[in-house]
Amino acid sequence: MGSISDFVDSSPLPPFRVLIIGGSYGGLSAALNLCDLCDGLPPRCGPKAKEGSEPVERPRFTIETTIVDERDGFFHLIGSPLALADEQYAPKAWVKYADIPALQTRSNIKVLHGSIQSVDPEQKKAKFIARGMGVAATELTYDYLVVASGLRRVWPVVPQSSRRKQYLFEVGDHIRAATVGRHGVVVVGGGAVGIEMAAELKLVHPHLKVTLVHSRDKLLSSEPLPDDVKDRSLELLREAGVDVLLSHRVDRTDETVDEYGQSCQRMHFTNGHNLVADHVIMAISQSVPSTSFLPGAVLDDEGYVRIEANLSFPAPYSDDHFAIGDLVRWSGIKRCGGAMHMGYLAAHNIHQRMLYRLGGAEQSRETPVDLTLDEIPPMIGLAVGKKAVAYWPEAGTTSGEDVMKLFFGEDLGFTICWNHLGLGRSCEQA
Ligand SMILES: Cc1cc2nc3c(=O)[nH]c(=O)nc-3n(C[C@H](O)[C@H](O)[C@H](O)COP(=O)(O)OP(=O)(O)OC[C@H]3O[C@@H](n4cnc5c(N)ncnc54)[C@H](O)[C@@H]3O)c2cc1C
Repeated sequence: MGSISDFVDSSPLPPFRVLIIGGSYGGLSAALNLCDLCDGLPPRCGPKAKEGSEPVERPRFTIETTIVDERDGFFHLIGSPLALADEQYAPKAWVKYADIPALQTRSNIKVLHGSIQSVDPEQKKAKFIARGMGVAATELTYDYLVVASGLRRVWPVVPQSSRRKQYLFEVGDHIRAATVGRHGVVVVGGGAVGIEMAAELKLVHPHLKVTLVHSRDKLLSSEPLPDDVKDRSLELLREAGVDVLLSHRVDRTDETVDEYGQSCQRMHFTNGHNLVADHVIMAISQSVPSTSFLPGAVLDDEGYVRIEANLSFPAPYSDDHFAIGDLVRWSGIKRCGGAMHMGYLAAHNIHQRMLYRLGGAEQSRETPVDLTLDEIPPMIGLAVGKKAVAYWPEAGTTSGEDVMKLFFGEDLGFTICWNHLGLGRSCEQA
C-alpha cells in the first residue's frame, strides 16, 4: 500500500482551490495555517510541540489560495481607537497586502481587492467585484470556502476607507476635527469601543477635554461580565483623566455658536442636563455580520452563520464550507484571539478533508478527524490609556500597566497579532 505522498504524486487532482472571504485576523490565520500544513509544516497558530517529541510527518501538496478583501491591506482593528487619535500610529495599523512578507513570498496565495457579492454553495462559485471596476462581476470557483468577513461597523468605530492612502486622510481629518476646539470631545457609548476611543484620545492629547457619556449606570452594561470588571474600567478611565457621565441618555444634539463665534454642538440629555462639545463621537452602533452574500439557509435571523462545532456550515454544505471569526453564532465576546484560533481550526479541518480526498481510503481514514471549537466563556482585555483591565474566568479581574503590557504590548496589540500570525515571515523562513 502506498503512502499518502505516493498517492499525491500520482494524483490526477488539480491543486485544491481555497477561497477565503476576508483577509483580517480570521482569514489570514486560515490561509497561513493551511499553507503551513500543506507544506508539511506545523501550523503556526497550533499548539507548540512538546520538547523531545517526534515531529509529525505530513505529506506536501499544492493548493491555490485566493483571499478577497474590500481593503487593500490588513487593518489592525484593535488598534483603531489609537489610530483615530494618533497620526503617528495610524500608518502602522494598516499594512498593504503587497507589503506583507508572509503573503508576498508565496506564489500560491493571491489577494484580490474587492467585494464578494454572492456565494452559490451548490455550484461552489462566488461573484466577485474588483474595487474600482464598477459593477462587472467575475466568477471565482473553489473547492473549499472560508468565510471570514467579520462585522460591518460604522464610522467612526472603524475607518471606512478601502485603500490605505485614503484611510490616512480619513484618520487625519478626524483627529484634527476632534482636537482643534475649546470645548472638547464627547464620546457617546460606554461599551468597549467607546471606552477605548475616549481613553486613547485623552492619552495622546492630554490637554483635550474628553467626556464619555453612557445611558446606563455601569460601563460595559451589555456585556456578560462581572461587576468588578465594569467598576474597574470606570476607575481606570477616570484615572486616565476622562470625565465619565453615567445614566446620561442623549435626547438631541443641536448645532450652535459659542461666545467666540465658533460653531459647536450642544448635547441635551433626557435627565435635563446639557453640555457643549466641539466634536461628538458616536460609539454605540450595533454592528451587523457581513454575510448578506450567503444563502439565508445558513444564517440565523441576525445574519450570523450557524456553524457546527467544527466551524463548518450546516448540512448540506458542511464538507467544504467553513465560517470563522466575528460572524459566527457562538458563545463568548467577539475577540481577535478567537478569530485567529478559529482560523487555525478551520485550516486543520480543511487539511483533513484534503488528505482524505487525496488518499483517505488507502490510509484507512474512515472520515477526516476534525478539531472542534469549545464553548467560549465571557472574557475581555480592555486598554484604558496606559493601563488595561482584563477578565477571564480562571484569573478573575486584573488590571494595571503590567496587564496592558501582557495583553497589548507597546502598540495596542499590533506586534502581538503580527507575530502570532507570522505575517513578517517569508515563505523560506516558515
Ligand atoms: C474598536 C475595536 C476595538 C477592539 N478591541 C479588541 C481588543 O482589544 N481585543 C480583542 O480581542 N478584540 C477586539 N476587538 C474585536 C476584534 O477586532 C474582532 O474580534 C476581530 O476583528 C474579528 O476578526 P475577523 O477576522 O472575524 O473580522 P474582521 O477583523 O472584522 O475582518 C473582516 C474582513 O472582511 C472584509 N470583508 C467584509 N465583507 C467583505 C466582502 N463582502 N467581501 C470581501 N471582504 C469583505 C473586511 O474588509 C475585513 O478586512 C475590537 C473591535 C473594535 C471594532
